[in-house]
Amino acid sequence: MMFPKIDAAVFETPAGVQYLREPGVVMIAMPSVDLSGMDSFLGNFAPELEYQGYLDDPTDLPPAETLCKAAGQLCYMSFGPRRTMNKDAVGYFGNIKESKHGSVLEHANFTFLLYGISRSLTHELVRHRAGFGFSQVSQRYVGGKMLRFVERPEYAAVPALHEVFVHRADRFAREYEAMTTALADLQAAGEAAIMSAEQRTDRRKKVRQAARSLLPNETEAPIIVTANVRSWRHFLEMRASEHAETEIRRLATQVHACLREAAPLLFADYTVKRLPDGTEAVSTPYQKV
Ligand SMILES: Cc1cc2nc3c(=O)[nH]c(=O)nc-3n(C[C@H](O)[C@H](O)[C@H](O)COP(=O)(O)OP(=O)(O)OC[C@H]3O[C@@H](n4cnc5c(N)ncnc54)[C@H](O)[C@@H]3O)c2cc1C
Repeated sequence: MMFPKIDAAVFETPAGVQYLREPGVVMIAMPSVDLSGMDSFLGNFAPELEYQGYLDDPTDLPPAETLCKAAGQLCYMSFGPRRTMNKDAVGYFGNIKESKHGSVLEHANFTFLLYGISRSLTHELVRHRAGFGFSQVSQRYVGGKMLRFVERPEYAAVPALHEVFVHRADRFAREYEAMTTALADLQAAGEAAIMSAEQRTDRRKKVRQAARSLLPNETEAPIIVTANVRSWRHFLEMRASEHAETEIRRLATQVHACLREAAPLLFADYTVKRLPDGTEAVSTPYQKV
């Protein structure tokens, strides 16, 4: 099974500097669920409760829904054919959201590789704390060969602003290269104690950690992000809202599309709205479950 993803095209300036114009969103992990081991636990309760029937549910749910529903049903020991079976899961998750029993949504995690996004976007993204994990490209370890830029839609739409962007990308790539060379020369000359280091990796790190200071907000900042369903929902409500900044809103609407494909019952309450400026926003009546 292929996980949902939205690829982003890569462009090159005439000088060969790469840039992107939209976020790349690649789901790389989701829950893997097997409830069959619950049989010994469920089988030890009184037969008239019919708990064993829970595991013979003829309706399949996607893994995240299966996991969150089992977690919610454990809270009230509401297993078996006399309680909510999978065919009624839409109503079940409606109740979960309405009653704000959102902790059951914390069991299912989804991980994305996000690229084609700027350093200013990731600065906003990493403000989300509860239930999130981040691994972001280090500008101290990763050098100029992997340097790419992100063009804002406002620039891409206007030829004159696009030209300025392209020149700026070339200039920053050149300046970064020149600065790393100058700092490496300084280091090799042994004239600046602050640049000295024993190990080769540490020497490079000292060069890059200084040279990165000149990189702009529009430098690409790839990141791998894991969050649980409750946290992703809060992220969507904050960042796919029409009040959010345009670049992160575009990312959030794409994340929403991928999450909805993988876990439709957990994200189906969101509606996508086209805004007058041609961009999209996402909203739900079930805020912050
Ligand atoms: C349109 C917009 C404009 C913004 N402008 C600014 C700005 O000008 N300056 C700025 O600094 N930030 C700004 N932010 C960032 C914002 O303040 C939050 O840092 C960010 O949206 C993360 O939200 P959060 O804290 O709710 O999320 P999370 O960190 O994911 O937390 C989720 C929820 O968990 C609870 N929680 C988490 N940590 C704590 C805690 N320590 N104590 C108590 N409860 C906690 C809260 O209920 C919180 O809503 C802006 C965000 C948006 C969407």
